[in-house]
Amino acid sequence: MRSGRQVAVIGAGLGGLSAAALLARGGLQVTVFEKGCRAGGKMNVFAANGFTWDTGPSLVTMPHVLRGLWRKLGRDFDRDLQLIRLEPSCRYFWPDQHRVDEDEAFWQRPDLTRLLRHAAGIYDVSAEAFLEHRLEDWWKQLHWKNLPKLRHLPKVADRRTLAQLAADYFADKRLRQYLGRFATYNGSSPYRAPAAFSIIPYVQRQFGSWYVKGGLYRIADALAQICREEGARFEFGTEIFRVQPNGRGFTLATAGGTVLGCDLVICNQDVLSADAQLFPPPFRTGYASQRRDLAVSGFAMLLGVRGNHPGLLHHNVFFSDDYETEFRQIFDQRTPPAPPTIYVAIDSKTEPERAPAGHENWFVLVNVPAFRGPDQGKRWERASETYGNLILRRLSAFGFDGLENRVVDRHYLSPLDFARRFNAFGGSLYGFASHGLFSAFRRPPLQSRRLPNLWFVGGSTHPGGGIPLSLLSGRIVAEEVLR
Ligand SMILES: Cc1cc2nc3c(=O)[nH]c(=O)nc-3n(C[C@H](O)[C@H](O)[C@H](O)COP(=O)(O)OP(=O)(O)OC[C@H]3O[C@@H](n4cnc5c(N)ncnc54)[C@H](O)[C@@H]3O)c2cc1C
Repeated sequence: MRSGRQVAVIGAGLGGLSAAALLARGGLQVTVFEKGCRAGGKMNVFAANGFTWDTGPSLVTMPHVLRGLWRKLGRDFDRDLQLIRLEPSCRYFWPDQHRVDEDEAFWQRPDLTRLLRHAAGIYDVSAEAFLEHRLEDWWKQLHWKNLPKLRHLPKVADRRTLAQLAADYFADKRLRQYLGRFATYNGSSPYRAPAAFSIIPYVQRQFGSWYVKGGLYRIADALAQICREEGARFEFGTEIFRVQPNGRGFTLATAGGTVLGCDLVICNQDVLSADAQLFPPPFRTGYASQRRDLAVSGFAMLLGVRGNHPGLLHHNVFFSDDYETEFRQIFDQRTPPAPPTIYVAIDSKTEPERAPAGHENWFVLVNVPAFRGPDQGKRWERASETYGNLILRRLSAFGFDGLENRVVDRHYLSPLDFARRFNAFGGSLYGFASHGLFSAFRRPPLQSRRLPNLWFVGGSTHPGGGIPLSLLSGRIVAEEVLR
């Protein structure tokens, strides 16, 4: 039975899609407004000259979150999506020619085992409380049944940064860099992110690293299809420019001036950019002007590369020589790091049909600073080619001589593209960075404090960025609304 309540979802990113699907299934009238021409937001896809690239996420972690969402939607996950486990999950390269595969033998190292035991306690005490509920409700998980887990709470309140924790666990400088990199999964610096971020390698070890047959964009595609089957409507090419509260509901205005009414708004636009764009002054929170570090943006290159490179895996990371300098450049000097740490995903290693025969589809990604102000952003209009060449030269130095000459197709995505295409504030991929011990408690909340029928979902809000957490934000909101 459909209730008469009209829900407007602004944005068809993963948070918006998971909320829309569950709310439509719960009987509400759901319309999803998406400024782009298809669903997915930062999870997206691009094809040219026989190559297909996922242009956003390339790695699925915590697959149980996807399965759990499908279960809640009454769907058969394995009928819609086929997950492929990657083993080893990643190959790491250092400038001194040292390389490490993240495989079973690696996870069994005594120093790593010790770290993972530490992180398992953090996961035990915090995962359910923080990831599956509104932040303000976390204390409700302090049930007597959970008492044994509470002994791990001091690990969550550890005042060390992730980099300090790494120094305490690993004698090898390279492994410190390895652990530090996990801070970037949420767009942060290991020198400012809390030690509790050690939960991320634990999750990667415990639940595996996965690829989706057909490319990760299949997730967004499948979810959009479920939304339609549950009765949600999509309005593509429709950007919402204003959300005006009116009594118990809202009036929405589109770029074309069309005005629409609804009872409830679920905003999947980045919280920071939405604040100033969508809401009239009395309802703004002023996030955009807060002097907090923004999470990193990304500079991505989609490369069609001739030949096969047997020394590479599906996921590869090429570290810079000096991690501290790299993050100082990103967060203090706010310049693209040189030389940067470079991530290369080649999913044609797993699915050769994603590239023409004898070629590979490289997705190359570097963390760069988000920008503040349009002038800083516009610099990328001229900088992409030069920075792209610097990255290629850097990769060549890792033993891929002549790489530039084997690149037969090349496309860029800069912070400016992320800002323009998805309304990501300053191109930041996750809103605010998770810097400081209490950063998890300082993320913008899911429910507006001023307007109870206004909710926020997606990577810039609670519980955070990435595929599983963005989906969880939509799930938590839908469950609260239906309740
Ligand atoms: C290059 C890159 C690599 C990544 N790698 C990984 C990875 O390997 N693993 C992982 O788990 N995560 C990864 N992530 C992060 C992950 O993609 C995101 O956290 C997640 O997809 C964000 O979802 P979201 O719900 O925040 O919505 P978004 O993706 O931000 O989508 C928001 C949508 O709203 C639309 N919109 C915005 N404003 C309006 C408006 N006013 N009117 C109408 N529509 C509007 C936008 O067009 C967009 O479609 C990566 C991200 C990027 C960019």
